[in-house]
Amino acid sequence: MKKQIISFHIISIFPESMRPYADSSILKRAQEKKLIHINFINPRDFTDDAHNSVDDSPYGGGPGMVMKVEPIYKAVQKIGSRIKDQGLKKRIILFSTRGKLFTQKEAKRLVKYDHLILICGRYEGVDERVAKYIADEEISIGDYVLSGGELPAMVVVEAVSRHIPGVLGKYESLEDVKGSYPVYTRPEVFQPNKRKSWKAPKILLSGDHKKIEGWRKTHND
Ligand code: SAH
Repeated sequence: MKKQIISFHIISIFPESMRPYADSSILKRAQEKKLIHINFINPRDFTDDAHNSVDDSPYGGGPGMVMKVEPIYKAVQKIGSRIKDQGLKKRIILFSTRGKLFTQKEAKRLVKYDHLILICGRYEGVDERVAKYIADEEISIGDYVLSGGELPAMVVVEAVSRHIPGVLGKYESLEDVKGSYPVYTRPEVFQPNKRKSWKAPKILLSGDHKKIEGWRKTHND
């Protein structure tokens, strides 16, 4: 069986905000094992004016600035030109508050691609022509407004990577269901002070696997 590898290409004007996270823990290991590649592309490198401007004021007025279409277009072109095997599956995603809600099901759907190009917006958002002509889809990670697409990018990279065989070690398990069951570890009784005593459920210490399984099922929300 062919080893599954996903290349994430993250288009952002703040790559430094994501590098420490991408280079820690599970994502770090996944990169070392060459199960994923995380590649940052800065639209600022694709500007041709003296100020390297990636944003401009909105047509029609209103507050804030809007990310320009051209540097993003050029960044996407550059990524495309680097992908040698054109038979590989790629998907271009724009992070947007108006996008489709990202769920575990969506993460599983995206694991099927070889290249995921993630476009991070900033300021008041991104010129709508990016959504209309460049991106294949728009994703929102939740019903709240963040300052940029960088946290959403890390959320998607991690949630998708967890579905690649070999990314999770034996100490982390793929929890498919939201909520899962409550877990406890030593000590059996924790006493934050003399009056309080916080206990782990006895049944989990019983060694009776059938009962434990039953308890976990009933405590799964
Ligand atoms: N004015 C916009 C907010 C822009 S926030 C509005 O009210 O909808 C700037 C950028 O952050 C967005 O372009 C998007 O790329 C990103 N962003 C903010 N919140 C997000 C969320 N919940 N999910 C995905 N991306 C988000």
